Amino acid sequence: MAGSTLSAPPITEIDVLWITAGLGCDGDTIAMTAATQPSIEDIVMGGMPWIPKVNFHNPFLSLENGDEFLQRFHLAAGGGIDPFILVVEGSIPNEKNKQGGYWASLGTDAATGQPITTCEWIDRLAPHAWAVIAVGTCATYGGIHAMEGNPTGCMGLPDYLGWNWRSTANIPIVCVPGCPIQPDNFMETLLYLLYIAAGRAPAIPLDEALRPTWLFGSTVHEGCDRGGYYEQGQFAEEYGSPLCIVKLGCWGPVVQCNVGKRGWMGGIGGCPNVGGICIGCTMPGFPDKFMPFMNQPPGSLLSSAAVQTYGRAIHALRRFTQASLNKVPSWRRQQAIPNRTDSHPS
Ligand code: SF4
Ligand code: SF4
Ligand code: SF4
Repeated sequence: MAGSTLSAPPITEIDVLWITAGLGCDGDTIAMTAATQPSIEDIVMGGMPWIPKVNFHNPFLSLENGDEFLQRFHLAAGGGIDPFILVVEGSIPNEKNKQGGYWASLGTDAATGQPITTCEWIDRLAPHAWAVIAVGTCATYGGIHAMEGNPTGCMGLPDYLGWNWRSTANIPIVCVPGCPIQPDNFMETLLYLLYIAAGRAPAIPLDEALRPTWLFGSTVHEGCDRGGYYEQGQFAEEYGSPLCIVKLGCWGPVVQCNVGKRGWMGGIGGCPNVGGICIGCTMPGFPDKFMPFMNQPPGSLLSSAAVQTYGRAIHALRRFTQASLNKVPSWRRQQAIPNRTDSHPS
């Protein structure tokens, strides 16, 4: 199996080198700090059993800054750190589509005094990486910044390195999409890789878009709190309603994402659960194929019309059943206490 390292000697210490210098908003780093299953603190403070010691380097969260922060990155680029996991956040620009200048960079080259582009960092680091994670939809598939007409020509990491690219441990690029990521989705994926490093997990199962299958194998709809309303043909006509919001533009029936079931932070929230339409942010076709966001998705016109006819009839029948179930059985009344007059109405 690609990426299976169960037979390799266990890794006892590993660096995580996180670059936020793609085209993005750093929202995935911010989101990740809300994770609880596990939290970033659980990982770096040694709170999880069996995993290697983790040296975590993220420009937002590190105490070091400037050249001091970049020391580990330069060392790793020269092959001086082994092993390390490279995390890339932000869309990868095309630095070859113009005559001069650059789209994105991190730090300055001491020899030339010129900015080191994000692409140069990826070119230098990826060949030495034990594993690579693309975090957020910008880094995985291009995201918002790769919308049609964007002059940067930016793309996701698999389009930059190649979809069949493999790390030094023979692990494919691992994509954790979301705009931003659901916090625990990222931390759980990182933890899985750390268990592989420790020789305690098999190859990571990924789908054709390189997403962990256990996180992205189901649709939003399949885990949504409002699914019962959909089935009964009860659709909201305006925001603020507890009913299914497919007519307001929810793409949940076809989008692979687990936040309907998992919630957002500590099990709370999750877009449609709290009234926000799903706009498909975990999907490679996001955002172009989901726009305009506030329109009812094309396929849902048919399915919601069919569900409306069937669902409303079922709902009406269920109201009869529900009314009956809301009454105590007749044999519990009066016989036990003949003079009572306050029994539940039949
Ligand atoms: Fe920001 Fe979304 Fe891009 Fe992450 S995927 S960097 S949250 S725009
Ligand atoms: Fe499905 Fe969206 Fe309706 Fe939830 S709100 S039941 S995800 S269509
Ligand atoms: Fe993105 Fe939809 Fe999942 Fe919300 S429910 S995080 S909009 S894919």
